[in-house]
Amino acid sequence: MAYESRDGLVTAVDRVSFALRPGEILGLAGESGCGKSTIALALPRLLRSPAVITGGEVLFDGTDLLALDDAAIRAVRWRDIALVFQNAMNALNPVLRISAQLVDVIRHHDKVSAEQARERAGGLLDLVGIGRDRLRAYPHQLSGGMRQRAAIAIALALRPRLVVLDEPTTALDVVVQREILDELKSLQRELGFAVLFVSHDLELLAEFTDRIAIIYAGRLVESAPALPLLDGAAHPYTRGLLAASPDLHGRRSATRGGLPGTPPDLSAPPPGCRFADRCEKALAVCGTAEPVMLPPPGAAATHVTACHLYPQDAQEVHA
Ligand code: ADP
Ligand code: MG
Repeated sequence: MAYESRDGLVTAVDRVSFALRPGEILGLAGESGCGKSTIALALPRLLRSPAVITGGEVLFDGTDLLALDDAAIRAVRWRDIALVFQNAMNALNPVLRISAQLVDVIRHHDKVSAEQARERAGGLLDLVGIGRDRLRAYPHQLSGGMRQRAAIAIALALRPRLVVLDEPTTALDVVVQREILDELKSLQRELGFAVLFVSHDLELLAEFTDRIAIIYAGRLVESAPALPLLDGAAHPYTRGLLAASPDLHGRRSATRGGLPGTPPDLSAPPPGCRFADRCEKALAVCGTAEPVMLPPPGAAATHVTACHLYPQDAQEVHA
């Protein structure tokens, strides 16, 4: 996936490959600008110019979504794959009541009466903890947290099998964020949808997800079940992210600063490992050869990382 620029195509996401099983919650983490939103938007083909998808596949139940015509992909969006963005205002129509927006989505896809659609809309608001008495509210009459819940209600309206959440609670305070995530998790258990959860907050992802994939400068660098990733992070970038993130109670300890340095310019990415120039452990080989995804010594086969600190002589593993 690339962006067109004056200097030509800038590849923002490169050779990233992952699988999401039904009902699984996968976290996608990395610093700002590393390509998380590009991936999130590419799945239901919502990337807009100057973005271009230059290759690859998005297999959903074996169908390549990138090969569908416009009508077919529109039928997949919201019905099968729904999105929630960081800022719900982008998803909500400011001049329509919440009820109208929910009813529109429901009736656009399902042949039900207005009455039935309103009943379902009320049920959805109850489900996400807003309460159906707020059905007639306009978005601006709701708090940021409530707007985010409304966006989640709209995303869940058609019972999608995959919900993509792109930093859904980043703009909210910690308490509201926690409430919404706890509720999302119980909704997920109840309804069984799969989730791609994008966040820069690793500790939050560890609590909320089954598995975490770490992305750096458009490439996957590590992927593992959530707890092994937190306890046994193998890639120096993952370790740096963990050291730089606030602890589970939202406190940033004195020893936890930001990660030093900045990601490389994607219009001219360095050869070898893209993290090499920020890596304290970099070896000579890191500046020349690209590492492949393999389990580090002692790790389960489900834990893979692309790093020259570990033996690189086996066949690449896609976990
Ligand atoms: P993230 O969500 O991880 O912060 P994004 O997927 O939004 O990252 O962006 C990844 C990279 O893609 C950016 O570093 C930038 O180089 C490029 N990019 C994103 N959006 C645009 C855009 N509208 N125009 C040009 N380049 C973009
Ligand atoms: Mg983003």
